[in-house]
Amino acid sequence: MKETLSFQTEVKQLLQLMIHSLYSNKEIFLRELISNAADATDKLRFEALNNAALLEDDGDLHITVTCDTAAKTITITDNGIGMSRDEVIENLGTIAKSGTKAFFEQLSGDAKKDANLIGQFGVGFYSAFIVADEVTVETRRAGTTADTAVRWISKGDGEFSIENIELAQRGTVITLHIKEEDADLLSDWTLRRIVTTYSDHISVPILMKKAPSYDDEGNITHSDELEAVNQAQALWTRSKNDISDEQYQEFYKHISHDFNDALAWTHFRVEGKHEYTGLMYVPKNAPFDMYDREPKGGVKLYVKRVFIMDDVQKLMPMYLRFIKGIIDTNDLPLNVSREILQQSRDLDQIRAGAVKKILSMLEDIAKNRAEDYSQFWNTFGSVLKEGIGEDAANKDKIAALSRFASTHNDDAAQTVSLADYIARMKEGQDKIYYITAETYAAAKNSPHLEIYRKKGIEVLLLTDRIDEWVVGSLFEFEGKKLASVSKGELDLGSLENEVDKAEQEKAQEAAKDVVAKIKADLGDKVADVRATTRLTESPACLVVGEHDMSQNLQRMLAAAGA
Ligand code: ADP
Ligand code: MG
Repeated sequence: MKETLSFQTEVKQLLQLMIHSLYSNKEIFLRELISNAADATDKLRFEALNNAALLEDDGDLHITVTCDTAAKTITITDNGIGMSRDEVIENLGTIAKSGTKAFFEQLSGDAKKDANLIGQFGVGFYSAFIVADEVTVETRRAGTTADTAVRWISKGDGEFSIENIELAQRGTVITLHIKEEDADLLSDWTLRRIVTTYSDHISVPILMKKAPSYDDEGNITHSDELEAVNQAQALWTRSKNDISDEQYQEFYKHISHDFNDALAWTHFRVEGKHEYTGLMYVPKNAPFDMYDREPKGGVKLYVKRVFIMDDVQKLMPMYLRFIKGIIDTNDLPLNVSREILQQSRDLDQIRAGAVKKILSMLEDIAKNRAEDYSQFWNTFGSVLKEGIGEDAANKDKIAALSRFASTHNDDAAQTVSLADYIARMKEGQDKIYYITAETYAAAKNSPHLEIYRKKGIEVLLLTDRIDEWVVGSLFEFEGKKLASVSKGELDLGSLENEVDKAEQEKAQEAAKDVVAKIKADLGDKVADVRATTRLTESPACLVVGEHDMSQNLQRMLAAAGA
């Protein structure tokens, strides 16, 4: 039965946008289709661990790229997992990515701006329509009979047709009918160049027609034989010295579905009690779903080079959920299940090791690449800071990596480290002072700061939602206690001199009657009323007890309905 279906509205929008804004990058279509084909072989290999019959005597997984200049087509074939009819409709008719709505809300209609956004969103299968005026997908899911295959055809104009066909071979064949203006792509030589540029890291062989050979007399012999044009070895198993930055970046794009380069990466091999390899990347941009309640893990798990699963939340702590990468270990059984992973002590230790490597990578960027670090911090700082409350073992390291706004700089940018603060402490100062507030303006203009400003003492201005949790978990840093300027009695320690004390007493004495009257008027609405030298300009301010919830936290809880 042949039916014609309409794309989801978002797909139509995406197609329009992609064709117009990514044209100057049109070659990426091949990278995306090969990336999907490689994922399909990964999935098949994994499912075959428990069901070898899926391989149907054809365990030699590979991808083929060919072109036909007469028919004006490029064909990408894989013998991976394939798709059922329902899967085709779901995968090639809708966008399942989380954050899709947020993505479309941010589109401006300005091609340049949107091209950048679309890159962060990931392009995928639909990028075929950048160069093709018709795309045909023929596919059969592994383990099903030849007559359950399907053919999907679309011109990328809002609709696709789908019908049942027979396919002897499992897997997927994607045929692009190339647009007139992109006929330059219809050459084995060009395709080979694109494949080797973008897809060399793919771990299954990518087969292409052998390059023509020339004999001594200059005669050309064309051959229809296929040969692998990539190294077909998992990138992370190669030695660092043999991997170029470009290859690392291409691998990043393959696993992250990000269109932009990564900001940094760390590639490490651990031997001994646990044996594993990790390749972890920090993206440049935040994913659209970074603040989702149940974000997906960005780290893929491999066991002995076999892809096991992604979205394994246990592979990274929540506060590193923006990290993309892979872990490949020999320490787990190949048929490991999600349930076993949840309880695996081995995995706990592997994770702890990987976290250390990631934190050292961040330390290295902070130390040696100031601009990149500030970009990193502005993008992911509020997530990383969650680690101060979440990861007791690495709390101090994360605190050292944190950056804050402070009264030292007159702007909201978070650039001050706790070490910077300590280096600027006044003689006799033994605490790190901070204030939490809803906004930078509220923090900066708080009456609580008046006395500190007068004395030239720096105060950190904490205005991220997470900061209440940070100061609730971080009591001291390098031996210096953190103290809120808006809690309890004014406590300047030895910064307070005899003159201050005398002034305070004098003020209290002078205000005795007023204070008593205010206290009587306010009754049990307040715990106490005190005269203070804390203020130099404002007449009065509210203070909470040293062990009470800060006003900011009370506000946040009230807003959350608590
Ligand atoms: P992504 O790769 O980020 O999931 P794509 O748009 O590239 O997004 O692909 C959408 C989905 O279509 C894939 O997740 C996969 O389920 C399916 N798909 C695409 N190409 C293939 C293929 N060659 N074999 C099997 N499934 C595929
Ligand atoms: Mg893809």
